[in-house]
Amino acid sequence: MKRIVVLGAAESGAGAAVLAKKKGFDVFVSDMSNIKDKYKKLLNDHGIVWEEGHHTEELILNADEVIKSPGIPENAPMIQKLKEKNIPIISEIEFAGRYTNAKMICITGSNGKTTTTSLIYHILKNAGYNVGLAGNIGSSLALQVAEEQHDYYVIELSSFQLDNMYDFKADIAVLMNITPDHLDRYDFKMQNYVDSKMRIIQNQTPDDAFVFWNDDPIVAAELKKYNIKARLCPFSEFKSDSVIGYVDEDEYVIESPTPFNMEQEELALRGKHNLYNSLAAGITADLAGVSNEQIREGLKSFEGVEHRLEKAGRVRGVEFINDSKATNVNACWYALDSMRTPVVLILGGKDKGNDYSEIFDLVREKCIGLVFLGVDNSKLHAAFDSFGIPIADVRSMKDCVDECYKMAKPGSTVLLSPCCASFDLFKNMEDRGEQFKECVKNL
Ligand code: ADP
Repeated sequence: MKRIVVLGAAESGAGAAVLAKKKGFDVFVSDMSNIKDKYKKLLNDHGIVWEEGHHTEELILNADEVIKSPGIPENAPMIQKLKEKNIPIISEIEFAGRYTNAKMICITGSNGKTTTTSLIYHILKNAGYNVGLAGNIGSSLALQVAEEQHDYYVIELSSFQLDNMYDFKADIAVLMNITPDHLDRYDFKMQNYVDSKMRIIQNQTPDDAFVFWNDDPIVAAELKKYNIKARLCPFSEFKSDSVIGYVDEDEYVIESPTPFNMEQEELALRGKHNLYNSLAAGITADLAGVSNEQIREGLKSFEGVEHRLEKAGRVRGVEFINDSKATNVNACWYALDSMRTPVVLILGGKDKGNDYSEIFDLVREKCIGLVFLGVDNSKLHAAFDSFGIPIADVRSMKDCVDECYKMAKPGSTVLLSPCCASFDLFKNMEDRGEQFKECVKNL
């Protein structure tokens, strides 16, 4: 019997183990950290053998194939040992893809993945499609393939998931943008990260489609290197001969496959970045055969995603916005760009190799105060101290919100869009966003 070892037992790993067991493999699950109770229960319910807190080499290096959680970096000692022994390492999505004929709609990019994925899912679901939501959001693709039968999957793919995908193919691939992120996991070489993102189009045939933001300079340069067979579906905020989706005179337009238009004003999501997300989602739904009426309805009724430019409350004329998910500089750029009032900006956390110069102009133009929320704020000080804008250092969300409130004036906005990961002071970006909302409520 072929032996499958699953490394990492969170959402993707536990789901992959269940699917592997159902398909008759000898399955073993190993996690260096503690496994959450709900995943232990899932594994136990399916009679799957697991270990936590360590990796037992003898039980892992005898695998025929290994399914690796996207959270485990390439340079982890066990991954190095598996590589030395030439044991194939794949992702959960690669594995699950082998066992379904459903149409795969896959979304990647440095920013906008979750919003676009959720919006596409919303439109398809509302249109009555039998669709599953998977990847970084929803329940794992593998578990859904094991236990449900969907005709379509809308899958959010990070670069880490794409890294271990080889034969998998997206019927519709969506690439939102590529800007520096996660460089710590790519030897601080941008091209390694770019190559990983471009895997979204691997194995595509002329029957497939590739939806992408036409104005991204990195994507444009990459496209020249590939012989892309899929139908090209570029979009932009501006009308031109080279795009099929755009805005023209305040009309949101999709030219093909089915011509569609609606007033931009009617789109549920606001801000330039969300226009891109809405264009990508509309084109994708059109490609999937959703009627114009249902596309319009879906684009109008979407309620947004938590921690992404989410309104967190208004206190004595000061608006508070939770964009905790902005964990890189480019995401913060779009958040600042969409601001129409003076801003007190909260920055800081675990820096992933950030270059803050990208937001210098917007900070100069829009910010009346900066609050640095992190254990080590030295890089932020080096970048912004010379701007002459009031700056405060804080180490807790309560102090942060109090400080912002002091700096803000009626009519201004406090924006949590920190450019950094949250792990120095918070459990994760959700915890950071929740604490922000709670502290705003208590003002
Ligand atoms: P991801 O899943 O790729 O991290 P999200 O949809 O969760 O993307 O959005 C993350 C952050 O990036 C949000 O805080 C938002 O301000 C910003 N953002 C969303 N869509 C885009 C886009 N298309 N381009 C640039 N920034 C975006």
